[in-house]
Amino acid sequence: MDLIESCEYETIEIPLIAHEIIMQTTKSPEREQILRWFELDKGIYHVGCTAKRLTFHSQQQRAFNLIWSLKEEFGLADKRVAIVGTGLAGLTAAAAAHLLKAKVELFEKKADNLPLQRGNATRFVHPNIYSWPKPGSVYPVTHLPYFNWYDAEAGEIARKVLEQWNEISEEIPQKYLKTITKVSSKNGKVFLDFEDGSSEPPYDFTLIAAGFGLEKALSETSTPSYWRNDSLDQPVLEKKPVLTYCVCGAGDGALLDTIRLKIKDFQHRQLVDWMLRNPWFFSQAEHISDALSNGKSIHDVWLEFGC
Ligand SMILES: Cc1cc2nc3c(=O)[nH]c(=O)nc-3n(C[C@H](O)[C@H](O)[C@H](O)COP(=O)(O)OP(=O)(O)OC[C@H]3O[C@@H](n4cnc5c(N)ncnc54)[C@H](O)[C@@H]3O)c2cc1C
Repeated sequence: MDLIESCEYETIEIPLIAHEIIMQTTKSPEREQILRWFELDKGIYHVGCTAKRLTFHSQQQRAFNLIWSLKEEFGLADKRVAIVGTGLAGLTAAAAAHLLKAKVELFEKKADNLPLQRGNATRFVHPNIYSWPKPGSVYPVTHLPYFNWYDAEAGEIARKVLEQWNEISEEIPQKYLKTITKVSSKNGKVFLDFEDGSSEPPYDFTLIAAGFGLEKALSETSTPSYWRNDSLDQPVLEKKPVLTYCVCGAGDGALLDTIRLKIKDFQHRQLVDWMLRNPWFFSQAEHISDALSNGKSIHDVWLEFGC
């Protein structure tokens, strides 16, 4: 079965190691280096759980890089591989290891694959925007060996990935509502502890693709988790026409929610398209990026812009 998607924008051959984004290093990391980055203990690896710049795309690249490195270093054929978490990183790693003939098993504490993003219609995701203004950042499509997707709302991306996943999923045991509480390594094998007390025979490798969990809610009435649908940009139905909101934080999520609250019929995709193609924004972004790579602090750059 051919899972490689055709790509409208470029027809470059993608090696399984996609080094550029993995750690923002200009030097191609060797497999030993990748394994060192991700190894927690003998046979136990994490997929970016502690990394910076976690995005859909970079997590998928980490998954490919890690699987490629394991294959090169130890060989994966017939190895028992457990994967904890069926987010994008877990599914991508599982598919890659399966196609390299490993015996893969997936464990997920929720009841479904991609439980965070599935069905989401409010969060628009672009695969390369986090590397803007670097070359290639405007491409609205991923360049992966498979599980590719276009810029879209998170739920649509999940649907696209699951469509591809479903082509192989029957061959991979997946266990849901299974929370792993401990992973340990002994005599070259990896053992998993389950919250429900059940057990599985030991594995050759275990990949922890558990993400960084849900945000802590401030109170029972606070806004839902980032990937849940909300009605921030819908007209108010209550009698009192103006509701008061407090947006905490200054990251991209907080800024976007502020815009959604303030601009009627706001369309995230339109803003992204416009920004990515606007020469003024592009030159400013390049200027900021150059200043930061020349050692200037964010604070100095901020002042330079008269902010
Ligand atoms: C607030 C917020 C905003 C974000 N915005 C963006 C954005 O705009 N664009 C973008 O590209 N990325 C964004 N991200 C990052 C994005 O969510 C992740 O890159 C993406 O979810 C893929 O990550 P993952 O597969 O590593 O982890 P997750 O998607 O978190 O999946 C981890 C899976 O592991 C399961 N799990 C966890 N612990 C256990 C356990 N002990 N046992 C069994 N299963 C377990 C979870 O239930 C979950 O299904 C954002 C993240 C957050 C939190």
